[in-house]
Amino acid sequence: MNARDKLYGIDSRIVTLRDAIAVLSFDEETVMPSSAGEERGEQIALLSGMMHDMATSDELKEAVATLKDSPMDEVTAALVRHHERFLKTEGALDRRFVEAEAKLLARSRSAWVEARRHDDWASFAPVLEEVVAMEREKAGIIDGHRDAYDTLLDLYEEGMNSEMVSSVFDPLEESIHRIMDRCTGDIPSAFMYAPYDRDRLHALCMSIIRRMGYDESRGMVSISAHPFTSMLGRDDVRITTRYDDPSWFDSISTIVHECGHALYDMHAAGNTAIRGTSLGCGVSMSLHESQSRFWENMILRSYPFIKGIYPKLVESVDALRGVGVDDFYRALNRSCPSAIRVNADELTYPLHVIMRFRLEKMLICGDLAVGDLPEAWNRMSRETVRYDVESDREGCLQDVHWAEGLFGYFPSYALGSIAAAAFYDAMARDVGGPRALESAIEEGRWDVVTRWQDEHVWSYGGMYDFATIVEKATGRALDVECYTTYLADKYSSVYNR
Ligand SMILES: [Zn+2]
Repeated sequence: MNARDKLYGIDSRIVTLRDAIAVLSFDEETVMPSSAGEERGEQIALLSGMMHDMATSDELKEAVATLKDSPMDEVTAALVRHHERFLKTEGALDRRFVEAEAKLLARSRSAWVEARRHDDWASFAPVLEEVVAMEREKAGIIDGHRDAYDTLLDLYEEGMNSEMVSSVFDPLEESIHRIMDRCTGDIPSAFMYAPYDRDRLHALCMSIIRRMGYDESRGMVSISAHPFTSMLGRDDVRITTRYDDPSWFDSISTIVHECGHALYDMHAAGNTAIRGTSLGCGVSMSLHESQSRFWENMILRSYPFIKGIYPKLVESVDALRGVGVDDFYRALNRSCPSAIRVNADELTYPLHVIMRFRLEKMLICGDLAVGDLPEAWNRMSRETVRYDVESDREGCLQDVHWAEGLFGYFPSYALGSIAAAAFYDAMARDVGGPRALESAIEEGRWDVVTRWQDEHVWSYGGMYDFATIVEKATGRALDVECYTTYLADKYSSVYNR
């Protein structure tokens, strides 16, 4: 067998194992009985170990080494790069480290659940200290010469470093503060929290995602406590949603957000050149978030979209009878600093991400001791989010990420929003200007949107990294200006309408 066939053969087995793990995890998150947790952990650990062995096998290393310097087609070149990168990063960690990390993270996750439940930071702090030390060690194993935080950041977003993130986040914080200063006066929004008929709302949600292009023959929608999208195979991309948030509108925005993720994976897997390989799915967290946030914020929460679906909305939600479309648009975009990141509005959300980026960087670099985190958190919340945190539960204990060892992951949420605005601009330019795009959105011709997304983002799958796709699609490198202009325009329309 030649090196090329060997590469594709091993890659296909890795993808099959990855999908099998996804099936087990999806079942765990949705319908698994609570007593089955331990054995499910064993099942997933065994398959993960097999996958790791395959991805670091001598056979694969040889194939990569042989192919690396020989001429080949673009897809094979991208696949070689993909495996080479894995070998240099997670693949550089030995079995002993991976198992020790998995054990510690399982312990820290349950310590976090308990600590959060009882608002008891002191019980979590020593475990988090171990996690920080372990992630620092991990960075050292992968690249001993590089700044530890940059190494971790690069795991989630290839080519990114903290200087690049700061150069985008610092001006973004300033712009958001300026916009917040102009968002004054209250916007009535009681109808957003009124009781509703769940079946009718679900039917509306389904009709929206079907029109977006979600293909139910290649996926399904179920309910879970924490909504997510999961790719279980090239023809199986599932969404979960929920109906127990404070506002009924959250159920619509959740499913639209998740559908944005799902369409990306479905279309990447639909490209026959990369289908079934490690490249046949979304490339990175930032790009994935750019697609979900694009639909959730830039389309769903836009005036043309709301105007277009308003008659259907009023039919489905009784509380909207007698509420005009302008008042509804303003209510659903109302902005107010708040404690919890996942419930934050579109304008203040990035501020939560910016403060986490600064804190986690200091934790990993050793500039902030874990013991001093609550105080630093509360101060930063006051200065950056402009919200006074009242307890650790609504402060530094609110997110699971650090308990799961995910340092360097947070920036991708905000980078995704920034890229989404750049994509919107490029899309408007390509389809005949902002007016033409707005008309298509209002009239329900959303295929104008998805066709552009497929051509410029989705169909590439994992062939190129985040920065390259942004540049190919928009014609320039990622900059924050498009996004801040979008926010300024939107919030002036919301507050001065
Ligand atoms: Zn998401």
